[in-house]
Amino acid sequence: MTEPGAGADPKLISTKAVRDGDEWVINGHKWFTTNGSVADFLIVMAVTNPDVHPYAGTSMIVVPADTTGVHIVRDVATMAHPETSYGLFGNHAEIKYLDVRVPYENLVGREGDGFRLAQERLGPGRIHHCMRWLGQSERAFDMLCERAVSRTLHGSTLAEKQMVQSWIAESKAEMTAARLMTLYAAWKMDEVGPPAARVEIAMIKYFGAQVLYNVIDRAIQAHGALGFSCDLPLEAMYRYARAARIYDGPDEVHKVTVARQVLKNYSSHETPSEHIPTRQEEARQKFATLLDELSLNS
Ligand SMILES: Cc1cc2nc3c(=O)[nH]c(=O)nc-3n(C[C@H](O)[C@H](O)[C@H](O)COP(=O)(O)OP(=O)(O)OC[C@H]3O[C@@H](n4cnc5c(N)ncnc54)[C@H](O)[C@@H]3O)c2cc1C
Repeated sequence: MTEPGAGADPKLISTKAVRDGDEWVINGHKWFTTNGSVADFLIVMAVTNPDVHPYAGTSMIVVPADTTGVHIVRDVATMAHPETSYGLFGNHAEIKYLDVRVPYENLVGREGDGFRLAQERLGPGRIHHCMRWLGQSERAFDMLCERAVSRTLHGSTLAEKQMVQSWIAESKAEMTAARLMTLYAAWKMDEVGPPAARVEIAMIKYFGAQVLYNVIDRAIQAHGALGFSCDLPLEAMYRYARAARIYDGPDEVHKVTVARQVLKNYSSHETPSEHIPTRQEEARQKFATLLDELSLNS
């Protein structure tokens, strides 16, 4: 999906697929196609009907990787030390599609289904990310706690220092919240389907990514220089966690989704509805008869 000029706003996609008889002819430039240089086939998101672009004019087309015109420009490196435990994560291909011809039947679904299919795949996919992040957070948390009870400095173990206790307490609470929000989003998706669960999915995407990042950050801090070195998996986990706030839609895009949906339940009020003098006056009018009776009887 992603192009050098179109990422967080996929409406800007410029790759085009034009029908020519029984074939599609695809031209465009993509990047950050994870595992694209080692895959047997690529799923290309392309504009197939510019008249109704962005949403209804975009389609997904399967392109075998060995098709003439598919040029793998390079793998964009995202990990400085690909030999460390997350080397696979550094494989994001930049690919040019130059007059690539594939059969018309390689279309996934129907013409114009591109965004709908992307949403249907990305929603459940985000839950999988969140589940992996919970596991990663637990691993980093265990390392944080082990270090806290093992390292003594300035007269006590790290575990006895209130700032470190605060990291542990915050991490535990954040991880518990992330776990419950992940379960809730998955349950909601099962109950009403991914489109109707988009707020819950968006919330856990940015919340879960931030929790992962926070817990790993604290574990690194507790380990000092060792935590920053490649002798522990934490520094690679940290870079992985940083990317989680960008891929599959950056935090901000998901926050926009949540805020927009939430705000639909609110209308503009010149006087705040909780304005105390106004509410007092309304109450006085509503209960005027009772108040009059009370003052007569007293
Ligand atoms: C490790 C990794 C793997 C990836 N794998 C794939 C893949 O397999 N396939 C694929 O298609 N793409 C993939 N991507 C690309 C990813 O989906 C894009 O990076 C992402 O959509 C953001 O697009 P962009 O990088 O072009 O950033 P831009 O679109 O340039 O956005 C830059 C920044 O602008 C800010 N921003 C965006 N929108 C708003 C807004 N509405 N309000 C406020 N701020 C905003 C955000 O902070 C965002 O990070 C991958 C990315 C990474 C890092």
